[in-house]
Amino acid sequence: MNTTRRSFLKLMSVSAVGLSLGQLGFDLAEAQAYASKLKIEGAKEVGSVCPFCSVCCQIIAYVRNGKLVSTEGDPDFPVNEGALCAKGAALFSMYTNPHRLTKPLYRAPHSDKWVEKDWEWTMNQIARRVKDARDKDMILKNEKGQTVNRVDSLFMMGTSHASNEECAVIHQAIRSLGMVQMDHQARV
Ligand code: SF4
Repeated sequence: MNTTRRSFLKLMSVSAVGLSLGQLGFDLAEAQAYASKLKIEGAKEVGSVCPFCSVCCQIIAYVRNGKLVSTEGDPDFPVNEGALCAKGAALFSMYTNPHRLTKPLYRAPHSDKWVEKDWEWTMNQIARRVKDARDKDMILKNEKGQTVNRVDSLFMMGTSHASNEECAVIHQAIRSLGMVQMDHQARV
């Protein structure tokens, strides 16, 4: 049998409670009925990652009927072993917070108002502006006449949620645009 750390802990806790309370003569029926009403009852476990910092603690997301119902640290993941800091522990409230942004917001130059935009418009804007900046600011040669092909007006900030392989692909794409200014959240 393939026993994970999580299933081992569950088994041990259930056995310990069952033995100690059962041996003491407590009726466990009520507790068992309560357990069947837990909010994760019948939910599917989906592996995910805390989005807040470069530690990238692993999360178990509990999903029922296509809806997230709870999150907790994954005890089988070697980095956090089930533990989460205060931010990661509050992850579920980020999902339920009514102030959470779910659509891109755009504020036009000199405007003081944010306007909701769809993703297609937003992605087209980003692509257009990157291309325009590259066309305008591309430096082909330095003062010594050496070929450099670089753009100093664009900057790339990476995310700790990209894998090594994703970072390699992003890095190559960014370099192909001539961008040399880049940093990564995981470095801090
Ligand atoms: S739980 Fe805390 S330490 Fe872990 S990734 Fe999230 S913010 Fe970082």
